Amino acid sequence: MTEDEQQARTVRGIGVSPGRAAGPVAQMAAPIAEPRSRRGLPFNSDLDAAAQSVAEHAQRVAQGLEEAAQRAGGASRDVLQTTAQMATDPMLVTAAQAYVRDERLSPPWAVWEAAADVAGQLTELGGYMAERVRDVVDVRDRIVASLEGLPMPGVPQRHDPFVLVAVDLAPADTALLDPSKVRAIVTEQGGPTSHTAILSRSLGIPAVVGVARALQELNANTTVLVDGAAGTVTLHPTAEQVAEAERQAAQSRTFSGVGRTADGHRVELLANVGEPGGATAAAEAGAEGIGLFRTEFCFLDRAEEPSVEEQVAQYRSVLRAFPGKKVVIRTLDAGADKPMPFLTDTDEPNPALGVRGLRTSWRNPKILSNQLDAIAQAAELEDAEVWVMAPMVATVDETEEFVAACGRRGLQTAGVMVEVPSAALLAGPILARAAFASIGTNDLIQYVMAADRLLGSLASLADAFQPAVLRMIEATCTGGAQQARPVGVCGEAAADPATAVALVGLGVTSLSMSPHSLADVAAVLEATPLTRCQELARLAMEAESAEEARSIVRGGLPVLGELGL
Ligand code: PEP
Ligand code: MG
Repeated sequence: MTEDEQQARTVRGIGVSPGRAAGPVAQMAAPIAEPRSRRGLPFNSDLDAAAQSVAEHAQRVAQGLEEAAQRAGGASRDVLQTTAQMATDPMLVTAAQAYVRDERLSPPWAVWEAAADVAGQLTELGGYMAERVRDVVDVRDRIVASLEGLPMPGVPQRHDPFVLVAVDLAPADTALLDPSKVRAIVTEQGGPTSHTAILSRSLGIPAVVGVARALQELNANTTVLVDGAAGTVTLHPTAEQVAEAERQAAQSRTFSGVGRTADGHRVELLANVGEPGGATAAAEAGAEGIGLFRTEFCFLDRAEEPSVEEQVAQYRSVLRAFPGKKVVIRTLDAGADKPMPFLTDTDEPNPALGVRGLRTSWRNPKILSNQLDAIAQAAELEDAEVWVMAPMVATVDETEEFVAACGRRGLQTAGVMVEVPSAALLAGPILARAAFASIGTNDLIQYVMAADRLLGSLASLADAFQPAVLRMIEATCTGGAQQARPVGVCGEAAADPATAVALVGLGVTSLSMSPHSLADVAAVLEATPLTRCQELARLAMEAESAEEARSIVRGGLPVLGELGL
C-alpha cells in the first residue's frame, strides 16, 4: 500500500488517553431534541391503537434496558435497572395514553408531554425524587426513538467489544462505560482536559477526541485501530497492526510505589480519584497516596446537598484505602461543566468565569462548612493523613479564610489549588498562609490561554507546553520555594511522561494522575536525572511556541521512544 493510501485511511484528533485498541465501530446516536412526528393525530385515527402502541414501545424499551442490566456489572447494572423500571412506570405511560386519547396527540408527542409533566412533579417533590428526573428524560428519549424507528440514544448496548464513536460524551455516560466492552473512544468534540478525557483515562480506555466529522468518517461496524497516544484512528487496519496493538497492550508496565528521578530525587507519584471505588484501584496501582479526590464526582447528579453523614461515609471509603498515607481532599468544585443544582446558577452567561469552585461558598457558606465538618469527621475516624484544598482560589484573602475554616476543625494541612493566573502570580503570599499548593493545569491552561478546555477546536492553545503556561507554573514553584511549601500538579499534564519531566524540572514536588498513568510516568522519571529535567524545563520555558517546547523536551528524552511513549 502506498503512503498516500495509508494516509487516506487514517483520521486524526487529539490523543487524550494512551493505549492502542482495535474493534468495530458502534456509534452513539445523537440525543433527541424533539419528536420528529406531527404533533396531532389525523381526525380518523384509532386512538385506542395509538395509546396501546405507547405501552408496547415502553415495554420494549424496558426489556432492552433490563437485558443490558443483566449483561452489565456493578454500578452500571443498578443504574440500568432503575431506568428500566422508569420506562414502564404507570405515572408516565398512563399520562401519555391520556394525552393520546384526550388531546389526540401522536404517541411520540404524548410521551414527550407526559415526561415533562412527570419531571415537573418530581422536581417539586425535591430530594431523591428530583434526582430521578434524569431517568425520566432518558426513558422519554428511548421510547420516542423506539416509536419513531430511530437508533436508541445513549451508549450502545452490544454483546461484543466495540469502539465507541460519539459527538461527545456526558460525564455520566463516560462513568458508566464498561472497559471490558468499550475498547476505545473517539469523539468529535472535547479537548484534552475535558472531563470525558479525564474519565476515559481513569478507566484506562484509549481515547481520541476532537476528530472532525467522526460520525461521518467512521461508519458503524467498520474495524478501526485507535491510538490514544498519537491521536490517530486507522480505518481497516491490517491483521499485523491489530496484533501489534494487542501485543503492546498485554505488555503493561507496573509502578514500584516510589517515584524518583534517575539520581534519586524524590517526586511523590499520587493518584486522582473521582468516586470512592477508584481509591482501591489507585492503591492497587501502587499510588503513594491520593493527590486529588474530586469530591463533586460523588454527588454530580444530586438535586440537593448530600447530608453530612453521607459525605462522611463516602470520604471514609477513600481514606480507608490509604492508611498512613496522604489523601488530598478537594472541596466541591461545582460550576462550569460540573453544574450542581444545589450550588450553582445555570443561567450565568459565562460559567467558566462565573461562580464556581470556592466562589460558590460566598453565597452558600453553609455547604462548605458542612463539607469541612464531614471531612474532619472522616479524618478523625480513619488513619490516612488528610490534606484539604479549595478549588479556584484567586486571592490571598480567600486563602486566609479557607485555611482558618479548616484550622477551626482541626484540619491542619490546608492548601489551595492554583488554577487561576492570579494565584500563580501571588504564590508567595498565598503559600505564606497555605500549607501547600496543587496546580490544576486543566483550568490554569484554560485561563492563561483564554481557551475553553471543552473545545477541540482550541486544543492547540490548550496545551501545557505553551511557554506562558510553563512560566506560570515556574512562578508558582518559586513562591512555594520561598515559603518552603510543596507544590504539586494534579491536572492532566502530570499524566504525560514528557510534560511530567518538564514539571519536575520547574520545581514541582509531586505529580497526581489517573492510576493508569503512574507506571509510564515513573519509568520515564527513573531514567532521567534531575539536572536533565531542569535543563529541559528551562529550554522549554524559553521556547516561543508549544510545538518548539514539546519538541525540545521530547527530543531530549530518548527513553520515550524506547518505551513506546
Ligand atoms: C484542573 O483544573 O487541572 C483540575 C485538576 O481540576 P478539574 O479538572 O477537576 O477542574
Ligand atoms: Mg480545575
